[in-house]
Amino acid sequence: MIYVLDATAFIFGFIPSKNFQLYTTEEIIKEIQRNKLSKLKIDTLISQGLIKIISPPNYYEIKVEEKVSLLSESKLSKADKSILALSLFLKDTQKEKITIITDDYSLQNVASALGLEFKSLTVKGITKSIEWIIYCPACGRIAENVKENFCLICGHRMKRKPKKVLHHIKA
Ligand SMILES: [Zn+2]
Repeated sequence: MIYVLDATAFIFGFIPSKNFQLYTTEEIIKEIQRNKLSKLKIDTLISQGLIKIISPPNYYEIKVEEKVSLLSESKLSKADKSILALSLFLKDTQKEKITIITDDYSLQNVASALGLEFKSLTVKGITKSIEWIIYCPACGRIAENVKENFCLICGHRMKRKPKKVLHHIKA
């Protein structure tokens, strides 16, 4: 069993065991080292050789970017995307089952659309995969760029709503 850990997994105190291998990326390490407590945790894991830090090949980053833009999922950080790319890479190269540990709904959303499994630590995981529409509640305009925060026509703050449910995830 392989667990790929995102930042929330460290912050909420994921407990390692010898029964599974832990992986994460350089971007996640950078993100969590900003917090003193989780920095201590991660430094211990690294020094004990309990976690592998891998940068996924560019090919997998591109696959993730494609899915992210298809879903209009704009709330993912570079670190979040690196976790998805790493998981795809491991899925292709390792024989064991890959599970992402994350409490981030946006990350879970893209993970499920990519056919990756995930587990939540503190929150109830999402039960369906969502494709978002970014729209203006005032004039009704639909944004083409998911990063658009304010309407280009009338200046209102943009909102998002599900466009369609892609598929339901088995509990
Ligand atoms: Zn508008």
